[in-house]
Amino acid sequence: MSNLNHLQGKTALVTGSTSGIGLGIAQALAQAGANIVLNGFGDVDAALASLTATGVQAIHHPADMRKPDEIAAMVAAAQARFGGVDVLVNNAGIQHVAPVEAFPVEKWDDILAINLTSSFHTIRHALPGMRARNWGRIVNIASVHGLVGSAGKSAYVAAKHGLVGLTKVTALETAGTGVTCNAICPGFVLTPLVAQQIADIAARDGISTEAAQARLLADKQPSGQFVTPRQLGGIVTMLCSPLGDEVRGAAWAADGGWTAQ
Ligand code: NAD
Repeated sequence: MSNLNHLQGKTALVTGSTSGIGLGIAQALAQAGANIVLNGFGDVDAALASLTATGVQAIHHPADMRKPDEIAAMVAAAQARFGGVDVLVNNAGIQHVAPVEAFPVEKWDDILAINLTSSFHTIRHALPGMRARNWGRIVNIASVHGLVGSAGKSAYVAAKHGLVGLTKVTALETAGTGVTCNAICPGFVLTPLVAQQIADIAARDGISTEAAQARLLADKQPSGQFVTPRQLGGIVTMLCSPLGDEVRGAAWAADGGWTAQ
């Protein structure tokens, strides 16, 4: 990257950023100079402190990504405090694993609302300002499950495939402007979302957490290594630099080889 502070004076809104991947991305964007709007239900004070330590300004908005009115209020709060949203990272997401015929209806509704529909709302509220300034970056954190399926994950796979589709259409509608829209498709990252799946494997198979982690990876991820939030933050900041000007509508896998198989 030509300029380490290439996002100075810009504002980034990252949904679901009090832990895991979202926090790692927010930290990378702060290191590149962006002011940050955090969102999510985790440890807000610790997350904010990790950002302001880099010298940027950061606020938290508690919007629930299932609630369109609260999403609108969050984008309005970012505009009121910082003058607009230049970088929008749609990251909030939840998981639930069950066979399709036994999938709890309320879990299906929540997963579709948080993992897909919230991005429609954030995009429709943030895009007019980006168009007016003729610069913007929208990065949707999809998943390998936006590209391929896995048994037991019907709602998640449906939502993430939908998010990749929304990414392509938004990229086409903004082609020819200074706004880009892309998706990143991570494989397994060791966050609270995946920790639950590891705990379930350990309990089911009567093995240690370490053995369950190895089994989870061996099943899908040829590298045998977890992807890290820091690596994903690096991809997002690259997409937000001039190097990313003509990356449009991509679904960028970062998955240890999962989807190469
Ligand atoms: P995480 O559980 O650590 O973080 C999820 C974040 O979303 C938290 O900040 C949480 O408070 C927030 N959140 C949950 N429900 C919310 C709601 N209703 N409104 C607002 N915020 C809400 O999970 P993570 O692993 O960091 O996942 C982040 C994103 O990355 C998700 O979209 C997930 O699908 C995706 N992803 C994760 C992995 C992985 O292996 N961990 C792989 C591919 C994609």
